[in-house]
Formats: sequence, C-alpha cells, structure tokens
Amino acid sequence: MSAADEAVTLIADLRSALARHQRAGAWAAPGERSARPVGVVDDAPVEPGRRTLATVRADLGDCTRCALATTRSNIVFGDGAADAPLVFVGEAPGADEDRTGVPFVGRAGELLDKMIVAMGWRRSDVYIANVLKCRPPGNRTPLADEIAACRPFLDAQLGVLAPRIVVALGRPAANTLLGTDAPISALRGRFHELNGLRVMPTFHPAYLLREPDRKRDAWADLKLVMAELERLGIQPPGA
Ligand code: SF4
Repeated sequence: MSAADEAVTLIADLRSALARHQRAGAWAAPGERSARPVGVVDDAPVEPGRRTLATVRADLGDCTRCALATTRSNIVFGDGAADAPLVFVGEAPGADEDRTGVPFVGRAGELLDKMIVAMGWRRSDVYIANVLKCRPPGNRTPLADEIAACRPFLDAQLGVLAPRIVVALGRPAANTLLGTDAPISALRGRFHELNGLRVMPTFHPAYLLREPDRKRDAWADLKLVMAELERLGIQPPGA
C-alpha cells in the first residue's frame, strides 16, 4: 500500500471511530476506555432524542411482549461498557442469569470471562448480551415469536454500542443474528457481515464445558477477532 493510500485508510478509520464514539456518546480514542459508566447505568447528558443503552432499557420496561414475561424472575438486559468495540451475544439467560439479572454468570459465564481475559480484555471493557432478555423455562429452545418480540432490543443495543466486532456465542445466537440455519461448524472460523458489523460465530461456553476438546477451535476464532481488532488499531484498555 502506498503512503497516500495508507493515509486515506487511516483517515477513514479515524472518521469511523469518531462517528462510532459520537453515536455512543463517549469520547475516547480507539481502544481507550471511556470514563463513562458501564452497562445500563448510562445517565450522562445526551443530545435530545438520541438513543442510549439507558433509553433502550427504558423502552423495554417491565416487558410483557412475549410469554416469557410470565415465567422469568428478572429481565437480563446486558452488561459491560457503553462504548465497547467488542460485543458478545448469546442465546438467552439461564437459571443463574434469571436469578441475578446479569448475563453469563455461573460456570459458562466464568469460562467466558476467562476467554475474554485470555484475549487481553476484561469483562468490564466489553459488552455482553443475549438475543432474548428472559429465560425460557427449563432452558428450552426459544420460540420464533419470542425471538421476533425481543430481537429489536438487541438490534437497538447494537445500534447504540456500534461495536466493531460481535462474537456470536453458539448456533442459536449466530443463526438469529445472521438469518441462517447453518450449523455453527459451518459458520465459525470466519467473519460475517451484518449491517456493517463484523460477526464472528464461535462455540458457546456452555458447549465448551461439555466438549473441552473444542476449546482449541474457539480459541482460534478468538485469535481471529484479536487480529482484526489489532488491524483496526483497537487495543484492550491498559494494553
Ligand atoms: S423475552 Fe424479550 S420480548 Fe419476551 S418478555 Fe422478555 S424482554 Fe419482553
């Protein structure tokens, strides 16, 4: 690449990063951690009418848009940094998440935390959410009408966060995000485009607990994510 081409690319990346941070209401150079509060506690002054995680959560309210409202204990909205360039998306809350209202806790959550740390990040610097915000009874497979009712709120979260990369954890999340029914083995290992987002499907931590031999494959996927973040000039905070 010539110096001129490199300069054009750098300027385009910088403009994109600035736009992303402006949309997220945060000011930080790519990869720097914002001083903003994390998760839904997003009460910094914003332009009138502009959506934030807090306004998306307020729109969700005490949601009764599908039948899962009758069986849940807590809505599990999401957790992490409001300016996270890296987002992890799972299928739905489990029992521990339903009890605490926090996504990816329990054994699968602990493994996800380790995966994030192995990538050089911290849980508090990324964002974690599920397609569904309420637990299906007995962890059954979400129904199509439940996904249809809840998906707009994940889309709204991603619209606010405007991450550079989304890691889809497990086949259901990857299938929902990408609009396919392909198995995870056919999807993982490469990036997919979703409305300008780069999506990397990989195995769900709960699956990796049952099939530890697949951790090597998951790590290979996460290394591709790390390499892409580096290519984009995004370093873990504190790196
Ligand atoms: S799963 Fe989503 S749409 Fe259904 S009640 Fe919970 S928050 Fe509402």
